[in-house]
Amino acid sequence: MIYPIYVYGTPILRKKTIDIDKDYPGLPSLISDMFDTMKFSEGVGLAAPQIGLAIRMFMVDATGTGKEEEGFDEDDEDLSDFKKVFINPKITKSWGEPWTFNEGCLSIPDLREDVDRPENVRIQYYDESFKFHDEEFDGVRARIIQHEYDHLEGIMFVDKINPLRKRLIAGRLSAISKGKVDVHYKIRFVNK
Ligand code: ZN
Repeated sequence: MIYPIYVYGTPILRKKTIDIDKDYPGLPSLISDMFDTMKFSEGVGLAAPQIGLAIRMFMVDATGTGKEEEGFDEDDEDLSDFKKVFINPKITKSWGEPWTFNEGCLSIPDLREDVDRPENVRIQYYDESFKFHDEEFDGVRARIIQHEYDHLEGIMFVDKINPLRKRLIAGRLSAISKGKVDVHYKIRFVNK
């Protein structure tokens, strides 16, 4: 099943998320549906709030990104094995020189902006089998993880860009929040 994606302006994207346990109803099919949704919408990451669930879970799948993909052409990192589920994640440390990357988000269609983030993160999480991990990531992997993790904290990448840029794109954000955007996947927005 392909979920519609909640876009900028929907309250769920700003809500506090809660931990889940392994008995969360329908978890295996939810995970599989979220992977399908991410693939269909051509994203490299998807967090539960983006499909309307205020729970602490996100997944990444960068296995399909080649060098020609938008936003991924500046680096030579091999991401062909980077497909993971992060349940109840906790970033315990981030460090390294902040670097700039042109980010996009399925909840902010058709808009990319430069965002600075630290190079490295250490993250504790459970995988889809509820096995505990405590791992470090760097580069684009750390980048994607930090972006998705922010969704669980109610933070979106446009919160992190400079105020001048944010003013310049205010009109586009407002249009997106009203569903006025041309995307190939289904979106949900608040009807005011
Ligand atoms: Zn996002």
